[in-house]
Amino acid sequence: MVAMLTRPTLVLNRNWQPVGVASVARSLSLVASGRARIVDPADYQLYTWKVWSRLIPQQDEPFVQSVTFRLRVPEVITLVGYDRVPRQVVTFSRLNLYKRDQYTCQYCDAKPGSEELTIDHVQPRSRGGTSTWENCVLACIACNNKKANRTPQEAHMPLRKMPIRPTWQPLYSRHNLKIQSWRKFLSEAYWTVELDGS
Ligand SMILES: [Zn+2]
Repeated sequence: MVAMLTRPTLVLNRNWQPVGVASVARSLSLVASGRARIVDPADYQLYTWKVWSRLIPQQDEPFVQSVTFRLRVPEVITLVGYDRVPRQVVTFSRLNLYKRDQYTCQYCDAKPGSEELTIDHVQPRSRGGTSTWENCVLACIACNNKKANRTPQEAHMPLRKMPIRPTWQPLYSRHNLKIQSWRKFLSEAYWTVELDGS
């Protein structure tokens, strides 16, 4: 079930041009909220949530099992009123911060493991620094102690990169799963370079 929900769905804009890839979970939520429709790659028929949720998966088809019913897994969706996939706001959390900074100390590049990483306020909290994406970075214990109650400038400890809020973005290349039906919607270049290229 979880694996199915994280499977990639190809996202097309209103003009059926590919604009990105979203997880099945994200695609189903876009369709359920009316912001996208599901495309049947076989006959290009469009499905709203209402219709799709009533379809019964065929024997050999991938499906999502919910408490009460089985849902067919969409492979392609088309956005109704947007040209880009609406941005998903990434919530500020410890786990997401680890992911953004890739478990790496932003001062010395060390990767000591999550147990040995702390969250450093770039502008110290005691001096008005907030707990936000823009003001928090991962720091190893040594760097955090060394920096103490100072700004990076004062401590002469430049950040490896600017802390910013991470954004969801179209990712053709991160998925290894090759979905045959996408071929109909992607140019040959995309198909061979971006999808094959991992
Ligand atoms: Zn460090």
